[in-house]
Amino acid sequence: TPAATAAETSLPAPRADLAGAEPYGAPQLPVTHALNVNENPFGPSAALADDIAAAVREAALGLNRYPDREALALREDLASYLAHEAGIVQPPVESVWAANGSNEIMHQLMLAYGGPGRTALGFTPHYSMYPEYARDTFTTWVTASRGPAPDFALTPETVTAAISEHRPDIVVLTSPNNPTGTALDLDTVRAAALALAPTRGLLVVDEAYSEFRRDGVPSALTVLGEHPGMVVTRTMSKAFALAGARLGYLVAHRAIVDAVRVVRLPYHLSAVTQAVARTALAHRQELLGQVELLRAERDALAAHLTGRGHGVAASDANFILFRTFQDRSAVFEGLLARDVLVRAVGPEGWLRVSIGTPEDNAAFRTALEEADPR
Ligand code: PMP
Repeated sequence: TPAATAAETSLPAPRADLAGAEPYGAPQLPVTHALNVNENPFGPSAALADDIAAAVREAALGLNRYPDREALALREDLASYLAHEAGIVQPPVESVWAANGSNEIMHQLMLAYGGPGRTALGFTPHYSMYPEYARDTFTTWVTASRGPAPDFALTPETVTAAISEHRPDIVVLTSPNNPTGTALDLDTVRAAALALAPTRGLLVVDEAYSEFRRDGVPSALTVLGEHPGMVVTRTMSKAFALAGARLGYLVAHRAIVDAVRVVRLPYHLSAVTQAVARTALAHRQELLGQVELLRAERDALAAHLTGRGHGVAASDANFILFRTFQDRSAVFEGLLARDVLVRAVGPEGWLRVSIGTPEDNAAFRTALEEADPR
């Protein structure tokens, strides 16, 4: 209507660089087999849900007060978990920081270390949110390419060359990488840290999927102590099966944590979130219990896809990027019509499928036979 048009034209305009931008996010569709956002398909047991409810009830009795702004008890629990998971000396609590998902962790890092006149470098194909954190914080986002399919490898030479070309203030490496599933070797991590050291750049290693890495693949946490400018980020969304609770964290030199504490919003982590995360950490054996099964399912699915003749990116994560025979959007739609939702990300012609329950994965295989005939 003309009235609506008049009202619309008098609305305040957002920042010019946000014009036409759409909110980011994968479709949330009601399907039986949701294999599109790398969630863990196994929810908590009823007993664990009861414990979470009890912890939340306890927190609820104090909700008139602001939460612990420093989330010290939670950060201590995270430090203890990491020492066990990565086989490192337990980091001091001042070196660990937590926020609402690793999305908020990355956002806070860019707020503190990016900004106008500063540049962040990533390697394509990469997680689609990185350019958005950069945009929000007025950081320039630049990219270099990972190696060719199906390995999508990153080498010490590639990262060193890209760093000397772009002179970035921040480098984001992802291990295992989304959407390719590729883990980094420590030589590549070290090379990036060394190349950044002369300009005192920040190296962020995003280890959102680290717990799914194959045997013998080390975490970048094992070399964190050698490089003061390095940050490793993690999340409870994937291996911990806790995407709905929103808890991400980082480990770094305490000075980096202190810089992030300057830009965080006060009381950013609610008392409810802290209580849920601490309860989940106390039950980590149950929550992480399905990681072995998911790794085995991943390897079996990768072998199956290779056997069908697909190009398959070797994966250390809970998803697989594979090349389709037919047009990828047709395959995506064909799978969706069979109640299987995957993700069209990565290079043209490739699709990403998250590892689900054995039933999900079987349904995916069957649907793929029809949706993507050879
Ligand atoms: N990093 C990578 C590489 C991811 O794939 C994701 C989620 N898809 C995230 C970070 C963010 O996860 P969260 O905010 O749930 O911790």
